[in-house]
This record gives sequence, C-alpha cells and structure tokens, in this order.
Amino acid sequence: MRTEYIPVCRPLLPQAAAIADYIRTIDARRFYTNRGPLTCLLEERLAGHLGQPAHVVRTASSGTAALEVAILAAAGSRALPSKDRRLALLPAFTFAATALAVERCGFRPHFVDVDATTWMPDPDALLHHPLIGQAGLIVVVAPYGVMPDMRALENLQAATGVPVVVDAAAAFEQILDHPELISPTVPVMVSFHATKTFSTGEGGAVLWDSREGQDRVVQVANFGFRGSRECRIGGTNAKMSEYHAAVGLAMLDSFTDRRRDYARVARLYRDLAAGQDLGGRLHLPPAVSSAYVLFEAQDGPTFLQAETTLLDLFVETRRWYESGLHVQPHFAREGQDPLPVTADLSARLLGLPVFPDMGEADILSILAALRAALSVTTLVTQG
Ligand SMILES: *Cc1c(COP(=O)(O)O)cnc(C)c1O
Repeated sequence: MRTEYIPVCRPLLPQAAAIADYIRTIDARRFYTNRGPLTCLLEERLAGHLGQPAHVVRTASSGTAALEVAILAAAGSRALPSKDRRLALLPAFTFAATALAVERCGFRPHFVDVDATTWMPDPDALLHHPLIGQAGLIVVVAPYGVMPDMRALENLQAATGVPVVVDAAAAFEQILDHPELISPTVPVMVSFHATKTFSTGEGGAVLWDSREGQDRVVQVANFGFRGSRECRIGGTNAKMSEYHAAVGLAMLDSFTDRRRDYARVARLYRDLAAGQDLGGRLHLPPAVSSAYVLFEAQDGPTFLQAETTLLDLFVETRRWYESGLHVQPHFAREGQDPLPVTADLSARLLGLPVFPDMGEADILSILAALRAALSVTTLVTQG
C-alpha cells in the first residue's frame, strides 16, 4: 500500500534565483514599500496581461485587505455605514475572509443562499430581497474562481443604489481569459495568497476600470492620505511591500509555464477519470480555478465516506468553504435566510489534491481511493 501522503495543496512559488535580481533593485534603491517601483511595475504588467490600462489594477497586502479597501472605496468613504443601511447581503457559501472584511468595514453580515447551478446568489433574488432597503453593501463571491455575470451585478447596483463588490479571490485566471469581466462600476478583488494560482506569498488586488474609484482604493489603503499626511477618509494600511511585488514579478515571468503545468494536471484528472463511476462528478479547471479540483458527491453519505476513505489512504482533502459561514461560531448569530442550497453543496463538495507538479501516479491513487469509498458506501447502503 502507498504510504506517501498526498497534500490537498502544495504551493510552488518562484525560487530564490528567480527573485534575486528584483531584490537587488530593492537593495540599491532602499525603497521598500508605499507603492514603490516594483509594486507599480507589477500593477502595470498585470494590467498589460489583462489588456487594460494600468489604473485597472491596484495591489494590496492580502486578498482580504483588498476586499476591505474595495468595500470602503465603493460603499463610501465614511468610516461607518449609515445607521439605516447597516446590513451587508452576502453568501454563506464562501471562505471566512469575505464576512470578516464586511464586518471590519462596519457592516453586519446577512447571509443569503446561492443558486444550485451557479453556486452564487441570484442577482434577481437580491434585487427583490426583503432586506434590500436596509442594505448598504452587497458582496457576491466567485466560488472556486467561477465568475458571476458582471453585467447583471452592474444592473443590480444601478437599480438598488446599493454598492456591489465581488470577492473573486480565486478567479485571477478566469479574469485573465475574460478581461471584459472587469467593470467600470463594480470592483473585483483577487487574492495572491500562496494557495491561489498566481501568488506573491501574501497579496491581492482590486480590479476596477474606474480611475476615481482606484484613487480612493489607493487612499483608503494608505491611512486615508492623499498627497499629504492628512487623514481625510477612513482607511487602513493595506499596501503591498516591494518584497512581495518582487515575488509577483518573478511569478509573472514564468506564469505561461505555470498555466501549462496546471492545464496538464487538469487534463490528467479528466482523462484518467473518464468513464469511471466515482459516486459523483468532478469539477475541473478551467471551469473552476486551477487551484481546485472538486468532487461533487451524488449524496451526503457518499461524500462522508469519500472524505474518510481518502484520509485512510493518506490523501488529504478539504472542505474549502466548510459547512457555510452561517454555522461558524463567530457568525452563527448573524442574520440569515434559509440556506438549503448552501447546506446541500457544503455537504457534497470535497476539495481534492491539486498542485502544479502533480504526477499521474498521485491522480490514479486519488481516483482509486474514490472508487474504494464508493464500494464501501454501496455495501453499507445495500447491507
Ligand atoms: C483565498 C480567499 C480569500 C482570502 O484571500 P487572502 O489573500 O488569503 O486574504 C477570500 N475569499 C475567498 C473566496 C478566498 O478563496
């Protein structure tokens, strides 16, 4: 039996040699942060890859920080939302950072359910939501990197007057392939965390085709300063350092190869799983981010058995969004709609291992483990 453990995620960032030249420029300039030359170069090069003008990309120290500054820049420069618009409508089907950012900006999360096919809140349901009149913010999440219909969200924002911000933490590749997703009115956050496909170690960015909006993002990310050391609007310190920008630039230098590696892994998964009964289906890149391979079990018992059997066989898995934010202790007392789809998806979606240098043998082991789990489930339910 195989005894080597397969981790769910095994980030691979640029090696020292690839970063060294960038670090030397930092040494020579003694310019370490505060939108230094490497940070600006990273923004310019990212914008270039997106075929967009430079202002469209504004970096931040993390994805969560980028989400906070996007919210503050979009939902108004006041430190706190107005009393009668304290709520933020957002899905529970996401990572904790989404609701934490909402809270840090002074809003109270109210969790809404997601659509069973898009895995996102339905813009039309948000438009007619009974609490929309008390909402000062709507956050929509691009689950596992699947982007929402941005035009529908622009229309939702225009129709309700409620600012909409998108947590697209894992959607960098999807946006790279479809830069038309970048909006002039609805800001989009992406994460450059090590577990995401494009990484600066820690980092993130706001993508927004609004010069004025991005000027506010920069101001909010730097203590509310603009041109002077006077704090004019609520803000924080969300700036990316030059060292992180160096990692990002080195990553960008070889990102074509990285995408090819990820595509190879996705193809292996798809080809090796073809025609097999796994007790569910796989969601693979490019439909989802290359950072994820998801097993959607046909039902709850199959999911639980898969999770147990894979662990027994030294395959790490992850419930990336746990059981939904509404059941996490910190958020359990917040308002929520009935969340049947969130509950159902959370009880059936299992993150399988994926990393850029993954080999065929690992994938064969994982698929064999899924089949083994299914035979146990079948035995149990028949017996
Ligand atoms: C990764 C992730 C975040 C957090 O991004 P950080 O860069 O780790 O702060 C937020 N939301 C979602 C949906 C994520 O997947």
